[in-house]
Order: sequence, then structure tokens, then C-alpha cells
Amino acid sequence: MLEVRDLTKSFGGLTAVRGVTTRFEKGRITAVIGPNGAGKSTFFNLVSGMHKPTSGRILFDGADVTGLRPDRMAVRGAARSFQTTHLFDKASVLDNLIVGHRLRTRSTFWDVLLNTPRLRADERACRDKAEQVLEFVGLTAIAHRLAGEISQEGRKRVAFALALATDPKILLLDEPAGGVNPDETAGLADLIRKMAASGLTVCLIEHKMDMIMSLADKIVVLDHGEMIAEGPPAAIRGDARVIEAYLGADYVAA
Ligand code: ADP
Ligand code: MG
Repeated sequence: MLEVRDLTKSFGGLTAVRGVTTRFEKGRITAVIGPNGAGKSTFFNLVSGMHKPTSGRILFDGADVTGLRPDRMAVRGAARSFQTTHLFDKASVLDNLIVGHRLRTRSTFWDVLLNTPRLRADERACRDKAEQVLEFVGLTAIAHRLAGEISQEGRKRVAFALALATDPKILLLDEPAGGVNPDETAGLADLIRKMAASGLTVCLIEHKMDMIMSLADKIVVLDHGEMIAEGPPAAIRGDARVIEAYLGADYVAA
């Protein structure tokens, strides 16, 4: 589905991602972990087209997509969510989805001015899509609440819904459970499982190790920009280099 080969990104003298080769399989959940500054966000920025790699290749569905801009990556089916969720707090959850989706449809300024059939068809399609993804993420009951008044977990679900509305094949989630309590974390993990079960390829950055260990099919460990290990949770948990660089003896004992 998505494959990176010898991917490297340097900022001046600093190499944030160095020679990473790995792949993300369709319908599977891959977690990228590592200490602060390890290169996780940079890796996401490379895969989503926000940064151009210094060297290396990115292959998506068999096509070479190295260096494509974020909008081109989005069209091909790569969607990402960010660490902080920016919503229109004074608009309803549903309207946030409709606006988010409208920004990506074909209607032009002239369509809006002239209220063309294309505009009306687009509006219908946006609303249908918004309702469909809100249902998927479990927000139908609060679709008409103001986005500024819902819980942090609810906001995370809206962010997932915004990404899902683009009909992605791969979803890149940056700390999807950041700032939410353990119960809510479990709920978000269930939702991520549901997304993968529906055929989506999921890649996430997360610090909550209990969540990762129960959720991920594969874990990629970065340290100082290099991939020091990859494999299923059980193997990563016992990997001496990973314990030293990231997990620490405390985690393993616990
Ligand atoms: P992580 O997400 O794992 O905490 P980052 O990918 O954000 O790590 O950062 C990896 C390294 O790259 C850090 O040393 C960071 O300071 C550096 N870095 C990240 N983005 C930039 C940038 N746009 N310009 C210069 N240095 C950057
Ligand atoms: Mg980061």
C-alpha cells in the first residue's frame, strides 16, 4: 500500500530522518514511536507531502509519489490529522464537516454566485458525506452541538471524521489520543480498529504505550532519525535497543 525506501530528510546540518525503509500494509495499523525529536512528525510530513525528502523514495499503491505536494497526495488518498484539532468552535459539528468537505469539492466562485445545478449537487453530496462520516465516528447524536462545546475526545472524533470525508486509503494520525483520559482513549482505540477493519491503512504517532501495544499490528521505532526496530508489539516490547532508547526498564517491568 505505502512503502518508503531509504527515506532521508535533512534540515541544514541536522538529519531528522535518516535512511528509513519500511512499508504499511492495507487494512493494518502501524504505530511510529520514539523519543521527542526522533523524527516522527518529520516522517509524517514526508509521507503526506508537506516536506520534500532530501533523498529516498515513497511508493503509494505501486506508484512513485516522491515529492508530490500535499494536495496531490490527498487526491491519491493520503489524509492526515494533526496533533491539535482546529475546528470552527462557533459552528455545529455537522457544519464543521460540511465546510471541511466543501473546501475540497469542485464548485467554483461562479457556481456559488449563480447557484448552478453543480453547486446544488455538491451541497447535497457534502451534507450526505458529512452525515455518513459522523455516523461512522459515533457523533450523530451531537451533530448539532457547537464544536466549541464538545469534549476533547469528541473533537478528536471530529478530526477523524474530517480526514475520513476525503475518502482516504491511508490515514496518518498524529497523537490521536493526546490529552484525553483513559476511558476516552479506549473508545478512540476502538474507533481506530473499526477504521482499519473497514479496509483503511492506519499509521499513527502515539506516546500511550498501553494503547499502542494493544492496537498496533506493527510498530516502527525511530531514534535520532533512524529506524532502530520494527515488528509486532511483542517483539518490540522485548527489544533491547528499544528499551534503552525509549521504553525504559520501568515499562518492561510493569
Ligand atoms: P518528533 O516528532 O519525533 O518529536 P520531529 O520530527 O518533530 O521529531 O523532529 C526531529 C528533528 O528535526 C528535531 O531535532 C527537530 O528540531 C528537527 N526539525 C523538525 N522540523 C524541522 C524544520 N522544519 N526545520 C528544522 N529542523 C526541524
Ligand atoms: Mg512530533
